Amino acid sequence: MKYISTRGQAPALSFEDAVLAGLASDGGLYVPETLPHFSAEEIASWVGLPYQELAFNIMSPFMAGEVPEDDLRELINNTYNAFRHDAIAPLVQTAHNEFILELFQGPTLAFKDFALQFLGNLLDYVLKKRDQRVVIMGATSGDTGSAAIEGCRHSDNVDIFILHPHNRVSEVQRRQMTTVLEKNVFNIAIEGNFDDCQNMVKGSFGDQSFLPEGRQLVAVNSINWTRIMAQIVYYFYAGLALGAPHRPVAFSVPTGNFGDIFAGYLAKRMGLPIDQLVVATNANDILHRCISENDHSLHDLVHSLSPSMDIMVSSNFERMLFDLYDRDGTAINELMSDFKKTGKLALSESALVKARELFTSYRLDDDAMIKVITDVWENTEYLLDPHTAIGVEAARKTRRRQDIPMVCLATAHPAKFPEAVRKAGYPQDPALPHHMADLFEREERYSVQPNDLGTVHQFIADNIR
Ligand SMILES: *Cc1c(COP(=O)(O)O)cnc(C)c1O
Repeated sequence: MKYISTRGQAPALSFEDAVLAGLASDGGLYVPETLPHFSAEEIASWVGLPYQELAFNIMSPFMAGEVPEDDLRELINNTYNAFRHDAIAPLVQTAHNEFILELFQGPTLAFKDFALQFLGNLLDYVLKKRDQRVVIMGATSGDTGSAAIEGCRHSDNVDIFILHPHNRVSEVQRRQMTTVLEKNVFNIAIEGNFDDCQNMVKGSFGDQSFLPEGRQLVAVNSINWTRIMAQIVYYFYAGLALGAPHRPVAFSVPTGNFGDIFAGYLAKRMGLPIDQLVVATNANDILHRCISENDHSLHDLVHSLSPSMDIMVSSNFERMLFDLYDRDGTAINELMSDFKKTGKLALSESALVKARELFTSYRLDDDAMIKVITDVWENTEYLLDPHTAIGVEAARKTRRRQDIPMVCLATAHPAKFPEAVRKAGYPQDPALPHHMADLFEREERYSVQPNDLGTVHQFIADNIR
């Protein structure tokens, strides 16, 4: 399978090269040249398969000819056997025909484990094969950092540097990163906000001359295609459990960078009968404004109680635009460079019509979100995390058909966000799962650095092994 850039100018790459490349040289994002499609009959034959086997069926076409089947099976098993729950992505019912898909059963308690634990294993495999060493540099508002660190801590061929905004991630989130003491793991607390961290990472990919000879940066944010690919699987897993392909399903997805929901859109195109996809946002609502009012314009960042969705621009939306514009790279190039200049982007009439056929959207601020946690707790004694709560309410508000099961993606464990849960009237900090019970006693290691790219580059250069 070849991978092409959304801006149409960079050369097509193989799967492995696209995984290592991050952004394309023309500034675009890599997407597969064609999408596998599964017939209803084939999907029906997967009913009852364990998660790992389903993952193999869905992901193998994307890597065909590069990763041999036995190797892929082993990568998948190593990744998902480390999850705490045997079902990997269990479903829980919270109302009539409304289900929660628990995507927080991985080692770091957020859905990002699905992709980043796999990416860590895949990178290790590819780099060993090529006898190559790389440097991972990533910015995190909390969940990406811990999942990426967990995925790479045992990899000899990777040094990983994760930037987080100093004093702006929750204590649980920070400790999940800073208590990993392997020699190839470096946490940098930047005296700035998340955007400062993100800008440093972006700037570094543009000019990698601070790295020693022969090293390159690899991206772990969702511009990396592997992350999208691995997330397609759980849409099929939940759909099959609820009657697909004979019965349609709907999904509601708490959305930040548009990675998770983009995977849902791909699942639909690959043959899963998805009747509705709900884009659920917090007060950082650029996607909701885009879909509902055709207003994709920059607003100031709001710091919310669902911090993993606090973004001004959704990087993966470019992948969606590419399809909405019939894969016209030149059009996307123009659209994105206009957006960079003006901070605004309006969809063409036909793109808007298509977007509205595919997605409904809804926005919740903190107060409305808190009420949902309280309400669901009081009615079912099920405790939602703040991100998941946004998805649940968005589903309830925009649902088109009551007879179709609605699956709300639970993107994080509530124990990661004690502040929001307490505000909802829950009487204590929600308990961390067993394997993390001593998190607050573990030793931490991180380095505080000024909001200055040169200083951070020096730190990285000094610490690469
Ligand atoms: C990253 C994250 C999201 C947003 O996912 P995107 O793929 O960026 O849309 C939602 N909830 C939680 C808990 C997250 O960590």
